[in-house]
Amino acid sequence: MAPEAENKSLLVRNAACLLTLDGPDDLLPNASILISGGTIERILPEGSELPTADRIVDAEGHLVLPGLVNCHHHFYQTLTRNLPGMANAKLFDWLLYLYDIWAEMTPEDLFDASAVAAAELLLSGCTTALDHFYVFPHGENSYFDAEVEGVRPTGLRFHLTRGSMSLSRKDGGLPPDSVVQTDREILDHTREVVARYHDDSFGSMLRIVPAPCSPFSVTEGILRESAALAREKNLTLHTHLAETEDEEKFCQEKFGMRPVDYMEKVGWLSENAIFAHSVWVNQDEIHRYARHRCGIAHCPTSNMRLGSGIAPIVPMLRAGVKVGLGVDGSASNDSSHMIQEVRQALLLQRVRYGADAISVRDALRIATKGGAEVLLRDDIGVIAPGYAADIIGVDLKRLGYAGALADPPGVLPLCHTDRVSFSIINGRVVVEKGELLTVDLPTLIERHNGNAAALLRRAGKA
Ligand SMILES: [Zn+2]
Repeated sequence: MAPEAENKSLLVRNAACLLTLDGPDDLLPNASILISGGTIERILPEGSELPTADRIVDAEGHLVLPGLVNCHHHFYQTLTRNLPGMANAKLFDWLLYLYDIWAEMTPEDLFDASAVAAAELLLSGCTTALDHFYVFPHGENSYFDAEVEGVRPTGLRFHLTRGSMSLSRKDGGLPPDSVVQTDREILDHTREVVARYHDDSFGSMLRIVPAPCSPFSVTEGILRESAALAREKNLTLHTHLAETEDEEKFCQEKFGMRPVDYMEKVGWLSENAIFAHSVWVNQDEIHRYARHRCGIAHCPTSNMRLGSGIAPIVPMLRAGVKVGLGVDGSASNDSSHMIQEVRQALLLQRVRYGADAISVRDALRIATKGGAEVLLRDDIGVIAPGYAADIIGVDLKRLGYAGALADPPGVLPLCHTDRVSFSIINGRVVVEKGELLTVDLPTLIERHNGNAAALLRRAGKA
């Protein structure tokens, strides 16, 4: 299948409703967008004379908005979704069961698993994703390259973590020996992949993120050294934090302090830091997040699936904390559907804080501009001249929206959306008429299902 050229001019024509999420007047009827060289050149309001372009995307009858930003995922976990042995488990039990299966994964498994996750994200409106990859069985670093190569052809804008685990069970951590590495191995390889892959330019399609897995699976040394490396190279930093009550107890017992205090001690409270979850944080910790400009990746489905709790996102937003959304690992969500995640975020916050505590527009803002801020990107998240052209559209004539058109932006969080009608990333059309143009899906799905079944057999869990 021929890849779409990235650098020609493109006109998104006559969107019934254009939600730019840029400034107070961000809803335009019958507007068009001119894209040139991957960048948004002009927004053409209703009645403008439309220029010619090399390629036209007809957006008539569509809601058009910025692509969604996914701030936390584990692509490899598409290999272990919906396992009956773990369908009803909480986090630590779930991890102990799954580590032994993940240890049997091959780089070829990961290559396909990454493409599967990316495909599901793309069809559900995601245009940028951060993937937290941290399992390197038997110290084999080529897994990292397999994931880069698996994702690249899909067209997804991508932040890949060089994750790590360095504290095995014999040293008081949770993972088995076969998936942990030494601090030196981790840091050397992190520097290597930053040099090889990290692109911090405008419109970058790949950035690298040091990302020790969690306080209960790494040493204090790797946390400190990762933070130092992020400062030195101007990178973001990522980890899981304050996800469950068990983690809080672990930190109290092992370090004599709460998870956020521990991260402060090891030099992580900074604007580079992106913490996944942060369910178990108190008001003082929320204020510290705001003061240090830390970013939070909120993962509502995963938190519900594992019974972890409800993150205090409304108080975080009120305190000025940067918040983005994450679908989290496919094995703790069993789905990589970004639009569903927007809906879950809205509904779950209302369970805890009431119907008027978070608006439809708040949920959409978190999923776009909020995510961009968390990833420290000022080139995506809104539709405005000078921004990278990451744009999605949904057809408002679909069954799920029938009778729901009084406020088109509301259909995304409030109604059912299976997939986007089109998606443009960096000026390249990746999804058109609801079909992914960059991946041969039936072949990929068949191979991935074969890989997943073989993985379970190797791990003795079939
Ligand atoms: Zn996670």
